[in-house]
Amino acid sequence: MKTSEIRKRYLDFFKSKNHDVLESASLIPQNDPSLLLIGAGMAPFKDYFTGKLKRENPRVSTCQKCIRTGDIDNVGKTARHHTFFEMLGNFSFGDYFKEDAIKWAWEFLTENLGLNPENLWVSVYEEDQEAYDLWRDLIKIPEEKIVRLGKKDNFWEVGVGPCGPCSEIYVDQGEKFGCGKADCKPGCDCDRFLEVWNLVFTQFDKDEEGNYHPLASKNIDTGMGLERIAAVMQGVDNNFEIDIIFPIIQRMEEITGKKYGEKEEVDVSLKVIADHIRAVVFMVADGVLPGNEGRGYVLRRLLRRAVRHGLLLGLKEMFMYKLVDVVIQLMEDQYPELKTKRDYIVKVVTLEEEKFAQTLEQGMQLLEYELAKLTKGQVFPGDIAFKLYDTYGFPLDLTKEVIGEKGFELDEEGYKIELEAQRRRAREARGEVEAMGTQEVITLEDLEKSNFIGYTNISNKDKIA
Ligand code: ATP
Ligand code: MG
Ligand code: MG
Ligand code: MG
Repeated sequence: MKTSEIRKRYLDFFKSKNHDVLESASLIPQNDPSLLLIGAGMAPFKDYFTGKLKRENPRVSTCQKCIRTGDIDNVGKTARHHTFFEMLGNFSFGDYFKEDAIKWAWEFLTENLGLNPENLWVSVYEEDQEAYDLWRDLIKIPEEKIVRLGKKDNFWEVGVGPCGPCSEIYVDQGEKFGCGKADCKPGCDCDRFLEVWNLVFTQFDKDEEGNYHPLASKNIDTGMGLERIAAVMQGVDNNFEIDIIFPIIQRMEEITGKKYGEKEEVDVSLKVIADHIRAVVFMVADGVLPGNEGRGYVLRRLLRRAVRHGLLLGLKEMFMYKLVDVVIQLMEDQYPELKTKRDYIVKVVTLEEEKFAQTLEQGMQLLEYELAKLTKGQVFPGDIAFKLYDTYGFPLDLTKEVIGEKGFELDEEGYKIELEAQRRRAREARGEVEAMGTQEVITLEDLEKSNFIGYTNISNKDKIA
């Protein structure tokens, strides 16, 4: 079953349960300064969960674009993590609660998608007997397949405000994917029990002192990773082999002459590139430009990290810009704006890749030269990390990652001292204007200078530099 079919079936299913199906919100949070990027389906609806905003129909369903940079180190190492992914979700703002959420999730997976109930496991929060009973008595899941997990895994809360227990649904992919430990079950870090869907029951309001008060109107917030359920439905080993991602890897095979599926480290690089180009394309389409701070930094870091993986694959020429069209072809049906913004996206990616490509190799040489001087227990000098950032355009996290791979740590203090000194110098030189560094944001001017042809297609929103 194609990923687009699953997406459609999900939204149609919840439409049939009287949900309003809404478009994905932008990756850039609107009216929410506490968030850098949207990382879950519920994020655009926070005000509805708290009751601050109300809508006529309290049931909503979406397929939301998400970025989770917190998962960056997992990409390519686990079968299931991306930095960019789509989350299917159904939400109830003070309307239906646990029973319907559980019943419908089960109905969708087993009847609509036709998954074998025998392969499904669930987890509940250890103190949530209500959810446990529903799974056991209403759904009739054998007790040995209902796992109780603690707060870390099965209680959702961010600071103060609405929060509550959750219940997750897992697909047992078989021993082949497992760690082989006798006590391997949902919650284990390995890929055997694939968490596909999280049902969050926001039923408490947490106050400043850490007390939980029952909410007058209880909410449902669910999230299912589209790529994960697609991997299950398509019977592939990992998310990167599904129909909307694998063609990117195939294009990289053509560009590099390397083969997927032969060597672990090659696969990791191919997966990282396939993941990051998707994130880059969607972020740029939503109006993010590469920079040294905030969202711009996230974008820059992802793009440059992918470029470095290109170098690891032996590429000396630019390649990221060539992948933009592949991503657009795979995603344009659901996100037609990608097509209209195509020229703009290619231009931004090309410029950023160009900037880094000029310095990457030299930077890597310097990095490796410095690494070779270190002996076990020594830290990597902060001033060199600063030089890599300032002169060679290495995002700090990239430097840390490379030295981490060799088992070393960075002298972060030394780095900060250099960064501060440079900021001071720049302030002095330019009066009170904040330092910009040598590798700052790509501006509208840069785009103009480079024979940019895509303006006709960009809205004013995208023209911010
Ligand atoms: P995991 O434990 O596998 O890291 P999670 O518990 O952090 O997942 P949730 O916050 O519960 O994930 O998000 C809801 C759903 O979104 C998950 O059940 C999963 O299907 C999907 N999901 C979460 N993180 C990612 C990711 N980095 N890449 C792809 N899908 C994801
Ligand atoms: Mg996670
Ligand atoms: Mg989890
Ligand atoms: Mg979860």
